[in-house]
Amino acid sequence: MYQKVKGFRDIYGLEARYWNKVEKVFRQTFRTFNFEEFYLPVLEKTEVFNRGIGSTTDIVEKEMFAFDDRDGTSVSLRPEGTASLVRAYVENKLFSTPGISKYYYIGPMFRRERPQKGRFRQFTQAGIEVFGSGGPSIDADVIYLLYKLAENLGIKDYVSMEINSIGCPSCRPAYNEKLIEYFKANIDHLCGDCLRRLDKNPMRILDCKNESCKKITADAPKAVDYLCDECKDHFEGVKSYLDALSVPYKVNPMMVRGLDYYVRTAFEMITDKLGSQSAVGAGGRYDGLIQLLGGPDTAGIGFAVGIDRLVSLCMLNETEKENDLDVFIISFKDVSDKTALKLANEMRSQGISVDMDYDFRKMKKQFSLADRYGALFTVVIGEDEAAKNTAAVKDMQAGTQEEIETAKVTAYIIDKLRRN
Ligand code: ATP
Ligand code: MG
Repeated sequence: MYQKVKGFRDIYGLEARYWNKVEKVFRQTFRTFNFEEFYLPVLEKTEVFNRGIGSTTDIVEKEMFAFDDRDGTSVSLRPEGTASLVRAYVENKLFSTPGISKYYYIGPMFRRERPQKGRFRQFTQAGIEVFGSGGPSIDADVIYLLYKLAENLGIKDYVSMEINSIGCPSCRPAYNEKLIEYFKANIDHLCGDCLRRLDKNPMRILDCKNESCKKITADAPKAVDYLCDECKDHFEGVKSYLDALSVPYKVNPMMVRGLDYYVRTAFEMITDKLGSQSAVGAGGRYDGLIQLLGGPDTAGIGFAVGIDRLVSLCMLNETEKENDLDVFIISFKDVSDKTALKLANEMRSQGISVDMDYDFRKMKKQFSLADRYGALFTVVIGEDEAAKNTAAVKDMQAGTQEEIETAKVTAYIIDKLRRN
């Protein structure tokens, strides 16, 4: 027996049902905000991520599935979507379309981290990116969209939104200096990773999950206290638009993002319902990234949501049924097998979901199959019915039964389903 690769998983049954629902709600919601779907490759040249995410980030330093292709080029399974989408935006010269560009993607990401509950090596993200708008109103609308996704999935009470501003290249250096000063005074408490981060990227120490580091970060200097006037105005703008939209949020001055490219607005949707994996979705503004990857100086903002974790949250609601078939046809070999096949496909072409027993077993067996599928109606065509060109249609919930002419069964079921 073969086993799957560590950190990878199979998704089926009830979870697949929820997965389907989440993707559907996401696509509908994204469209109402005028986002277009973007299908990206799962493999990119490694340099896209080294450059785009930052070579000192956890992802690039230790989590990428990177390997040399036969011609010696280093390629990587994508660990996230933003760097790929920016690569595609620049490569396809999409910046030449006037106005702002809004894209979304849904697909698998790969990170070689320690597998645990809610943390896998292949997981799925749905994300959006907006290119070409630098003002705070789009930040607020993007955060609103993230909130709206949770609302449309019926789980807004399970999540909360945290926002922060992490400054820009003109005010961050002064803040970084303050951070370095503070952490150097507490250097004995830092883990090995954070010692390395100290000079290169001190802000990332605030994101460390090590208990000892967490203790001292609680009193570390806050980025919001060192913002330049432009960043301050921008952050005030974001908050006032969020207030206008009545999005519930909290400012968390210690929240930073694990990727290098973020500036100003950072936000995270978190939950306390999934144990230690609390982040459901996260994003921020990345105004320098498009230029960094070879494009023009263009503003950008986006977020990514972890579908695996969202599906787990939705499953706490338990409203989706594993099976929900409209009709199960019960038929018998050489009596009504052909009629059943034709009727099944006549109903399917009207959008009704239909199944039947292709082995034409005993009536009782077929009823138990109908039960297993959760069929709302069964259509029985036994010898008597076949002789009269009729079918016995049973409403499985009400327990009532009616004899209907075979030619009228489809219309009858459509009418019944509409009333339900
Ligand atoms: P975490 O703090 O949990 O490591 P992150 O900051 O690395 O998350 P992002 O890179 O911002 O996560 O990705 C956005 C979302 O993708 C996360 O909020 C989470 O829901 C999901 N996600 C990230 N890594 C994984 C993983 N290994 N397995 C499952 N979901 C993940
Ligand atoms: Mg991570």
